[in-house]
Amino acid sequence: MAAFEYRDEQLFVEGLALDELARRFGTPAYVYSRAAIEAQWRAFDEGLGSISHLVCYAVKANSNLAVLNLLARLGSGFDIVSGGELERVLCAGGDPGKIVFSGVGKSEQELCRALEVGILCFNIESEAELERLNHLAGEMSCRAPVSLRVNPDVDPKTHPYIATGLKEHKFGIAMEDAVDLYRRAHDMSHITVQGIDCHIGSQLTELEPFAEATRKVLELADELLASGLELTHLNLGGGLGIRFRDENPATPAVYTGLLCELVRERPFKLLIEPGRAIVGNAGLLLSRVEYIKHSGSKHFAVVDAAMNDLMRPALYQAWHDIVPVHKCTDIDSETYNVVGPVCESGDVLGAERELRVTAGDLLAVHSAGAYGFSMSSSYNSRPRAVELMVDGNEVYVVRERERVEQLHAGEFLLPD
Ligand SMILES: *Cc1c(COP(=O)(O)O)cnc(C)c1O
Repeated sequence: MAAFEYRDEQLFVEGLALDELARRFGTPAYVYSRAAIEAQWRAFDEGLGSISHLVCYAVKANSNLAVLNLLARLGSGFDIVSGGELERVLCAGGDPGKIVFSGVGKSEQELCRALEVGILCFNIESEAELERLNHLAGEMSCRAPVSLRVNPDVDPKTHPYIATGLKEHKFGIAMEDAVDLYRRAHDMSHITVQGIDCHIGSQLTELEPFAEATRKVLELADELLASGLELTHLNLGGGLGIRFRDENPATPAVYTGLLCELVRERPFKLLIEPGRAIVGNAGLLLSRVEYIKHSGSKHFAVVDAAMNDLMRPALYQAWHDIVPVHKCTDIDSETYNVVGPVCESGDVLGAERELRVTAGDLLAVHSAGAYGFSMSSSYNSRPRAVELMVDGNEVYVVRERERVEQLHAGEFLLPD
């Protein structure tokens, strides 16, 4: 059974009609398929089955506790980028011993907490961070396991905002500085060198940049081994793209096949950090048309979801497929800009879409499972959407719709 498919002209998520979900829980709503999430995670895990490995789901793609918990139950590791994500993983039942911690700006507090719970590895992004971690681990009388995140200077051929693996980016340590820094790390009394880490960007639709980065990481590994340093793992990051429109990214099976081929026969455990490719196409944003509006030659479908709910179109000019929940043939087709209520002209979920819709109809915005809710805000004082998880014929509220009182919580007036 496909996670999202039409039956009798009605769009279903697994065993449930979206129409029914909208009636019960309102709109806008994020709707996820448990089966789709689990199948994608397993595809990565099984793909690396022939070598020692750990799939570390990148939490920032979708950090809902229920999503994290389902993956923890499958034995997933986690890639986190903040102390907040660390607490989410722990709260969701994730194993601290399977957490890797990425990010260029880890605070003292975040590093201490991660040392305290005993994470698998810190992905170090600078010399200053390495020194800070060594110092803190000393104060706590422990040793910190680290990888250095190297910047392989590979063009991932993706949107500039989500490319991270070029020298000009703030991420990672330049290849030519890596050997020296590894030596320093090796000599630090509260650091244990575990591996090499890299992550070159997100939504990669070609395999060659992954292969190029992996080859460069392997060259560095050889150099480090030859100089007497020991390494336990290689972490090749995340970044595998998904199909939003007509992209043709590799499947997890093909991608992991390539990694296995490149790394095979080496004595390393392989870590990867996929986010988008696990949850992206396992979720959609359900929205209702409030108004149809005609302005000059333009036609607008004004819906109740907006850029605060799904920021990707406004932020990255990202294209998401937008489809009617009920396929209707007795309305004329028209070219619409599907826009939200937020007071910004950039609040467009989809431009120039051929649709048969009328006010009151439901639309589904596809490929919204990753970087959808997790990037959402309450801009314009719009409460954040409800999140639903469908499992066969059951639906679970995995995050209730935010209430207006919650938006005011923690704010105070000045005294008279
Ligand atoms: C964002 C991120 C990922 C996940 O990227 P996807 O494109 O969602 O797979 C993995 N590793 C690091 C360090 C990241 O910042």
